[in-house]
Amino acid sequence: MRRLLAALLAAAVVVALPAARAADDVVNVYSARHDTLIKPLLDRFSKQTGIAVGLVTGNSDAMIKRLQVEGRNTPADVLITVDVARLGRAARAGLFQPVRSDRLETAIPAPFRDPDGLWFGLSMRARVIAYSRERVDPASLSTYEALTDNRWDDRICIRSSDNVYNQSLLASIVAAHDEHYAAQWARGIVDNMARRPQGGDTAQIQAVAAGVCDVAVVNTYYYARMITADKGTEARAAAEKVGLFFPNQDGRGAHVNVSGAGVLRHARHKDAAVRLLEYLASPEAQTWLGQANYEYPVNPDGEVSDVVRNLGHYPFKRDDVPLARLGELNATAVRIFDRAGWR
Ligand code: FE
Repeated sequence: MRRLLAALLAAAVVVALPAARAADDVVNVYSARHDTLIKPLLDRFSKQTGIAVGLVTGNSDAMIKRLQVEGRNTPADVLITVDVARLGRAARAGLFQPVRSDRLETAIPAPFRDPDGLWFGLSMRARVIAYSRERVDPASLSTYEALTDNRWDDRICIRSSDNVYNQSLLASIVAAHDEHYAAQWARGIVDNMARRPQGGDTAQIQAVAAGVCDVAVVNTYYYARMITADKGTEARAAAEKVGLFFPNQDGRGAHVNVSGAGVLRHARHKDAAVRLLEYLASPEAQTWLGQANYEYPVNPDGEVSDVVRNLGHYPFKRDDVPLARLGELNATAVRIFDRAGWR
């Protein structure tokens, strides 16, 4: 146990945790997001409220394990992480406490937060189809479901099934149809893969550009990062050969997911923690959060950046299945992937 804790502490980058102070002038955050995607906002929150923010950043799964090891002795009040698969996992592990806040409930649409207030979405991304501008007519694209069609045989690149993004996408297909259909879909995609799953979403876009495959399934912000890279860079050149298609626009809408946060069960500064979440859901913070990683604000009063607006027909139709439901279906999705032989 002690060795595990030491390893986890070593794995995380400790920026600063203020020493014990009066209950309400400090809040400690464990974040699985990169510093640069959250630190400036935390600083602004401190300036506005006088509440000091301690920040520890690290890998998502390590953060959850660390909280489990620390138990009631944790200094952390808030966990920030990415994808409902992980937010749901943290919730089921009993790490969060329910929060009721009119501000949060007004700012964040219901599908993007846990119905019991265990976690709240803070930024939104869509998982869409990337296609070769040279070899694919976007008119031949329609839905996630249609990617199992014969026409895409040996033409699809997609990352491995141990990735939460694909788990949540498959969970959304279970939710829209049923387990049996989702299993058929997973097998159909495996049949159409151009290669064994490898690499992250950026690698899939590069593979489409390089002609390894013709379509891929990726989160919007990966493409946005590449298309905004400096002219002449490899990333920019690859993205210019690739288009984004938002699927299921005539039906339930494109699959979306969130980064999000919850107040921890053993939080010692609950009031300050709730105030921080309320700040992060405010239009000002939402606009910043969206811009920082080319994501969409969850609060409709936040502004969408021009880069993100230009990714595709905006506003696009999104699948409004409650994300908490996708968290519940995570284990089902993992099981279906295993049986389908999706590596
Ligand atoms: Fe990502």
